[in-house]
Order: sequence, then structure tokens, then C-alpha cells
Amino acid sequence: MTYNVSDVQQPIRDMMKEFGPKLEPLGRKHDQQPDAFAHDMFKMIADQGLVGFVVPKELGGGGHSNLEYVTMIEELAYYDAPSSLLAAVSQLAVHSITYFGSDEQRKKYIPPAAKGEQIPAFALTEPNAGSDAANQQTVAKIEGDNFVINGEKIFIMHGDVCNFMVLFCKIDDGSERPRVSAIMVPGDAPGVKKWALKQKMGMKYATTGRITLENVTVPTTNLLGEKGRGFRYAMETLDGARVGIAAQSTGIAARALDESIKYAKSREQFGAPIAKLQAIQWMIADMSVRVEAARLLTYKAAQMQDAGERFGLQAAQAKLYASEAANFCVDRAMQIHGGYGYIGEFSIIEKLYRDQRVSEIYEGTSEVQRLVIANNYLRG
Ligand SMILES: Cc1cc2nc3c(=O)[nH]c(=O)nc-3n(C[C@H](O)[C@H](O)[C@H](O)COP(=O)(O)OP(=O)(O)OC[C@H]3O[C@@H](n4cnc5c(N)ncnc54)[C@H](O)[C@@H]3O)c2cc1C
Repeated sequence: MTYNVSDVQQPIRDMMKEFGPKLEPLGRKHDQQPDAFAHDMFKMIADQGLVGFVVPKELGGGGHSNLEYVTMIEELAYYDAPSSLLAAVSQLAVHSITYFGSDEQRKKYIPPAAKGEQIPAFALTEPNAGSDAANQQTVAKIEGDNFVINGEKIFIMHGDVCNFMVLFCKIDDGSERPRVSAIMVPGDAPGVKKWALKQKMGMKYATTGRITLENVTVPTTNLLGEKGRGFRYAMETLDGARVGIAAQSTGIAARALDESIKYAKSREQFGAPIAKLQAIQWMIADMSVRVEAARLLTYKAAQMQDAGERFGLQAAQAKLYASEAANFCVDRAMQIHGGYGYIGEFSIIEKLYRDQRVSEIYEGTSEVQRLVIANNYLRG
């Protein structure tokens, strides 16, 4: 039985035990095909209420707490890691609208996204603004009642298929050092071009896009929140998203552990199951400690978020630890499975290994998490 810190978690685990195994074979199939968004899986996940799981009920979502959300993401990632992205990205993308948008923007964008009828994207990263996300070079010029936007975004989850994006850019208002703002941009606005990036290592069917914007014109009423506050909105969104990646990593790590236990008991070499070998036992022990620690750090961050406390430090700690724990676990799982782990037709380990790696890169690299953590302890 997986450890719960609250009674609300078990019903979600029970629901996912029914639903998760339906996604797994579909994911294996999509993984073998050229990178393309898995519309069929996205629909199943949306119909299950998982795409708007944490979105407030009055905006068409499930109104679940963050603790419930991370439990759902952990379980989803256990069965199929890319499915946890298919579920999470829309909630990440509409977060800024929920908390900083006008009533009109909330009503327009969030309900269709929460139901999976529209696909949103969170467009922050640029070719020259990765870890240095404030270095935005996309610019919106004010011309009468419109913004005219030019620039390029890269590595945008679901960017190739998005119906709309929360676009972060600088507004050229004549000031010497314009600050980052957030603007709502339709995915099909004239001047928007979108592509899926190819040859992604893992998480293939939750696609990642490149978007160029050439003289894209939207009304100035599409500004989200206040001018110049976009970077803060993005960072607040990322705090929550990091807890989600911690949950995803925990699910991947837990799956790697369970597969390893099963395999170690059944695989015989030298006349006995390899589970009898101390070398294997120690790997299982080390994996299990990391899974449990990742889980607890993730739940702690989610509970602080639910309590309305500042949780940026705990989000970074959970994301850093859980993603590196997942890396450790998929690596040890492959070692335990030997050749049957390395070759995808024999086990899920090869896929888990590829799907895991990005968790140490997106929503801020491990190095950036260490910067955030150290700054929290050392400032002042
Ligand atoms: C699959 C995928 C999905 C993504 N989804 C989205 C999305 O939906 N929306 C979005 O806006 N972005 C998204 N990203 C972008 C992601 O957040 C960036 O890739 C990430 O922030 C790192 O930026 P970069 O790739 O440009 O690496 P760089 O910033 O160029 O970093 C290269 C290396 O230098 C290190 N480094 C950089 N600066 C420092 C520093 N100050 N101290 C120590 N080390 C440092 C990094 O840790 C890394 O090891 C996604 C990326 C991927 C791969």
C-alpha cells in the first residue's frame, strides 16, 4: 500500500488503478510512431476529468486540491509518463489566467481548456532565454489599440497544436528597460507558425513545439494582468508546475522500483533468482528510499501550496530531489534488467529511461533548482 498523508489520496489511487492500465498500451504504440500529439489519449484523459483536475469548479474544472493533483499525476506517470504531461500542461498553461486574468479572460479561456476542448500552451522559453528566462527578445509594439508581436518561442509543450497561448514577451512602450508581460495569443492568429520538434528522446506523444510570431496583431485588451508583471506570473506558475514534475518523477521512480522487484524475483541466474544476490538487493533498497523520500517532499510542497503558504523553496527541493531520484531509479532498473531492460520489446524500462530524463531539464534545470534553493537559504 502506497503511503498517504491524507485520506483524500486513496480514492484517487483507486481511480487511477482502473484508468492507468488503459493508457499504457496506447502509449507504447504512440511511442513507436513519429512524434505527434496523441489526440486520442488526450481525449481519454480529458474525459476522465484529469485535464482540468485542479482548475476551480466554477471555471469548469474538478476543483481538486494540489495534494490530490500530485497524487493523480504520480499515479498517471506510474502507468504512462507522457500521459501525466498530457494532463498537466493545460493546467500549467491556464494557471496565470486563473490567478491574474480578468473575469472575462477566465470565462473565455479556462472552461474549454479544463474540458480538453481547447489546448493551451505556456510560452516562455526562447532560443536565447532558457534558464535566463527574463532575457525575453519577443517584443509587442503598441499600435493604436493593438499589440503587434514579433519573436520566437522554443520547447513549448503542446505548442504545435495549441489553440491559444499565454505568451511572455516585452512590451515596447518607449521605456528604456521594458519588463516582461503576459499576453493572450490565439494559436491560429495570422503570423503565428507552429511546429512539433522532432527526434525527442522521450515523452514523444506529449509534443513539444517551436512557435514563430511575425507581425501577429492582437488587441491590447489581451494583456494578462498588469503590464510588466509577466515574469512574476511565470515564476509563480512554475512553482506549482515544479511540484507536478516532482510527482511525475515519483511515479516514474516507483514504477522502476516495482518492475525491478518483479523482475529480480523471476529472473534466475546461477540457479537462483537474482533477488538472492546482495548486489541486486542493495540496488532495490537504495531505490526504495529515494521513492519514499521523493514522495514525502512532493506531498509536503503540495500541502504548503494548499495551505496558501510560500512554497517556492519546497517546490524546488521536491523537483530537484524527485527528478534526480527518478534518474537513479530508472538507471538501476535498467541494470537489474540487463539486456531485457535495454531492449524495448522486452520491458518498459527502456521507455521509462527515455521518458524520465527531461524531468531534470524542464520547469528549470537541476542547476536552476539548486540556485533557487541556495538563494532561499543564503539571502538576507
Ligand atoms: C521537453 C521540453 C518541454 C518544455 N516545455 C516548456 C514549456 O511548455 N514552456 C516553456 O516556456 N519552456 C519549456 N521548456 C523549456 C525548458 O524550461 C528549458 O529547456 C530549460 O529552462 C533550460 O533552458 P535551455 O534548454 O535553454 O538550457 P540553458 O539555459 O542554455 O542551460 C544549459 C545548461 O547550462 C546550465 N545553466 C544555465 N544557467 C545556469 C546558471 N545560472 N547556473 C548554473 N547552471 C546554469 C543549465 O542548468 C544547463 O545545464 C521545455 C523544455 C523541454 C526540453
